[in-house]
Amino acid sequence: MPSSKPVPNRRKANAFISPDKDRRFAAEDNPFEAMMSRFDDAARRLNLEPGLYKVLRAPDKQIIVSVPIMRDSGEIEVFTGIRVLHNTSRGPAKGGIRFDMAVSLDEVKALAAWMTWKCAVVNLPFGGAKGGVICDPTSMSMGELERLTRRYTSAIIDVLGPDSDVPAPDVNTNERVMAWIMDTYSMHKRHTVTAVVTGKPVAMGGSLGRREATGRGCLVVTRRALERKKMKVKGATVAVQGFGNVGSIAAQLMQKEGMKVVAVSDKTGGIYNPKGLDVEDCLKWVAEHKFLAGYPKGKPVSNEAILELPVDVLVPAALENVITSKNASKIKAKIICEGANGPTTAKADAILDAKGIYVIPDILANAGGVTVSYFEWVQDRGGYFWDEPTVNERLEKIMVNAFDEVAAMAVKHDVSMRIGAYMLAIDRVAAMHRMRGLYA
Ligand code: NAD
Repeated sequence: MPSSKPVPNRRKANAFISPDKDRRFAAEDNPFEAMMSRFDDAARRLNLEPGLYKVLRAPDKQIIVSVPIMRDSGEIEVFTGIRVLHNTSRGPAKGGIRFDMAVSLDEVKALAAWMTWKCAVVNLPFGGAKGGVICDPTSMSMGELERLTRRYTSAIIDVLGPDSDVPAPDVNTNERVMAWIMDTYSMHKRHTVTAVVTGKPVAMGGSLGRREATGRGCLVVTRRALERKKMKVKGATVAVQGFGNVGSIAAQLMQKEGMKVVAVSDKTGGIYNPKGLDVEDCLKWVAEHKFLAGYPKGKPVSNEAILELPVDVLVPAALENVITSKNASKIKAKIICEGANGPTTAKADAILDAKGIYVIPDILANAGGVTVSYFEWVQDRGGYFWDEPTVNERLEKIMVNAFDEVAAMAVKHDVSMRIGAYMLAIDRVAAMHRMRGLYA
C-alpha cells in the first residue's frame, strides 16, 4: 500500500458502515460499532495507511441467499441465509453459523470481522467469517432443520471449502448441524471432505479436547493475568456468569487449579457462597434439574448482581453487552476474563480502564475454541489424530504466547489489553497485505 499517512478520523472515513445498519441496537449495544470503535482506535495508534484501513474495514464478501424448504405440513417457506467473509489474507475464512431470529447482516459483519482479529491474535493461518439463517429453530422439527441446513449449505457452497471457508457451530447450531453441512458438501464434491467444517462429532473427524477448549483457554489466560498482577492463583476468588459450555468448564477447571469459585449463574439466575461452591456438585444439580435455580448450597444472586460481587476474577461467559456504562463503575473484580463475545461495551471499557481493572479481552480470552478448531482442521487434513494431552499442551502453548504478545503490545503502546490485542491482530493482518501487495 503506497501511502503511509495515518488513518483519518473515522467519522470522515466510515464509508463501510452499512446503510442497512440494524436499528434494533441502541448505539452502545451495536455490535458493528462496538468492534469498529476498537478497530479504529487500534488502527490510529498503529498509524495504519489509509488504503489498508479501507481494505481492512470492508468485508471481502457478503452473501445473502434465499433458503426455501418444505415444512412438515407440505407448505413451502423461504428463509434468509447470510454468510460474510471478512478477510482471507492469512488463510481460509473461519467462523460459526447461527440459526436465530436475531441474525442480521450488520451483526454477521461484526462477528466476521471479530473472527479475523481473533484468529490473528492467536496467530492461526485463518481469516474471519460468520454466517446465519434468520429462523426460530425451536419451532422447527429435526427434519425441517436438516432440510434448512442442507439447502443453506448448497446455496453458499461456492465459498465453502477447507481452503476457502470453514464453518463451525455457533448459537443454536451443533455437532449434528456440522455433520449435515459436511455430508452435503461431500455429496456435491463426490468424496468425503471432513475438513470443510469444525466442531464435528469426534467419531467423524472432530478433535478431542474441543468441547473443553474455550473454558481451558480462559483458565490459561486468567492464570497468566493473576501472575502478572502478582496475585496468587490458589485461593483467588471467581464469579462466573453463564454456566454453559464456556462458563461451566472454565469454573470447573479454575476450581481444579485451586481457585475459589464463589458464584455461578445461568439464565434462571445465580448462586453465591463466599466460602466457595463445589462446581462438580452444581453441574450434577444442573444435569438433574436442567438449570441452577433452586440449588441449595448458596444464596440466590441475580445476573446483574453477580457482576458486581467482590471477587478477584469475573468471567462473563453468557451474553454480549452485560458490562455497560451503567454498571461498569460498580464492578469490583480485579481481573475480567471475557469468556463471552462482546460482554463489555466500548463506553464501559473507558470506565474499567480508569478503575485499573485488568480486562482480558474476548478476542484473546475465548480464542481457545477456534484454536482447537484449527487443530481439528489440521488433523482432518493430515488424517492423523492426536491424543487429548497433546491437544491441551499445544492449546496452552498458543494461549500463553498470545497472552504474552498482547501484554507486550499493551505495555509498549501504553494501552489496555483490549487495544493491545486489536493492535497485534491488525498489525499481523496488515503485514500480510503489505507482503502480498494489491492485485489489480
Ligand atoms: P451455552 O449456550 O453453552 O451457554 C450459555 C449459558 O449462558 C447458559 O448457562 C445460559 O443459561 C446462560 N445464559 C443465557 N442467558 C443468560 C442471561 N440473560 N444471564 C445469564 N446467563 C444467561 O453457550 P456457550 O457456548 O457457553 O457460549 C457463551 C458465550 O461464549 C457466547 O458469547 C459465545 O459466543 C461465546 N463463545 C463460545 C465459544 C465456544 O466454544 N462455545 C467460543 C468462543 C466464544
